[in-house]
Amino acid sequence: MNIKKLILDSYTIPLPVPVKAYAAGLMTGFDIVVVRITDENGNEGQGYTTGHTGFGGSIVRIIKDSFESILIGEDSARIEYLWLKMWKKTHYVGRGGQASFAISAVDAALWDLLGKRLKQPLWKLLGGYTPKVKVYAGNIDLNFPIEQILDNATKNIEDGFKAIKMRLGRDTLKEDLSRVEAMRNHIGDDIELMADANEAWRVDQALKASNELANFNLTWLEEPITPDDFRGYAYLKNNGATPIAAGENLHTLKEFQQLFYYDGVDFPEPDYTTCGGFTPFMKIAKLAEAYNLPVMSHGAHDVHVHLLAACPNAAYIEVHAFGIENYISNPLKIENGYGIAPDAPGIGFKFNFDKLKEFKAN
Ligand SMILES: [Mg+2]
Repeated sequence: MNIKKLILDSYTIPLPVPVKAYAAGLMTGFDIVVVRITDENGNEGQGYTTGHTGFGGSIVRIIKDSFESILIGEDSARIEYLWLKMWKKTHYVGRGGQASFAISAVDAALWDLLGKRLKQPLWKLLGGYTPKVKVYAGNIDLNFPIEQILDNATKNIEDGFKAIKMRLGRDTLKEDLSRVEAMRNHIGDDIELMADANEAWRVDQALKASNELANFNLTWLEEPITPDDFRGYAYLKNNGATPIAAGENLHTLKEFQQLFYYDGVDFPEPDYTTCGGFTPFMKIAKLAEAYNLPVMSHGAHDVHVHLLAACPNAAYIEVHAFGIENYISNPLKIENGYGIAPDAPGIGFKFNFDKLKEFKAN
């Protein structure tokens, strides 16, 4: 079925309360870019990418100016072929960065279209391992007082979570450690705890943090240093006392290959919205499997449940603080600590454009 039309929309979604992470700083909302692709028979696929506020317009422009004309009239089922066309078209300015975000949104819409046409949920089309994948609450809370963090943890546990993440990167390591200690004491030993430093430290600071955090039995320490220092990641993984997670800021399959080659990560966490879509996400998942590593996801949990449910090495879905559950037809269902991949075709939900329109940014 040949591609007839693309519809592109960018929205800025406000957050209920401002949240802070070290690298991004204070955030009051986030952008999403939704791509709708229709074929000549009227079938429609929907895909989206997401990022910080102010970036959506640039993604729309890349898709409009660089991709639309090379997609129209092509067979929508030849996703690898179309992915490579988009990659080559932006090769000179891309190979990552915003080009990867733009490719992601189109690739996701193509996969949704294929699933809808074949009347199959994507988690089955992509491999169909199990519909149940462990979830964790990906809280963003660097600016919250500890009392608020503990209250949120209580709510997470009431909502069925058995694993919770908090943020690090306060002014001193001592303060970070006291907040982690309070959290561990509050949730007990049976709830898993993760911590995300969002690139707060130098390698020497990160090594010290990794060793001192070992007292609190973290499942992982996430992005302690800048994401592209693969040698630094290898040093921390092999010399620190806390397992290492990373991946949300890697934008290509090749970057993950480098991270794995340098033995820099215990918990790879690709994000289809940042790494070029479902097509490279699944390759990263298989590459991780070949390295005897698990695969997780960052953000976009309503979609990532399909990708991870396809993978035998899936470990955790992050249920991210930038949720779109108010704007889609079928948000992720969580039961007893697991996200459940739906059996509806494609990504299993549709955007509610009536609800979104008040946040339209272009
Ligand atoms: Mg993170």
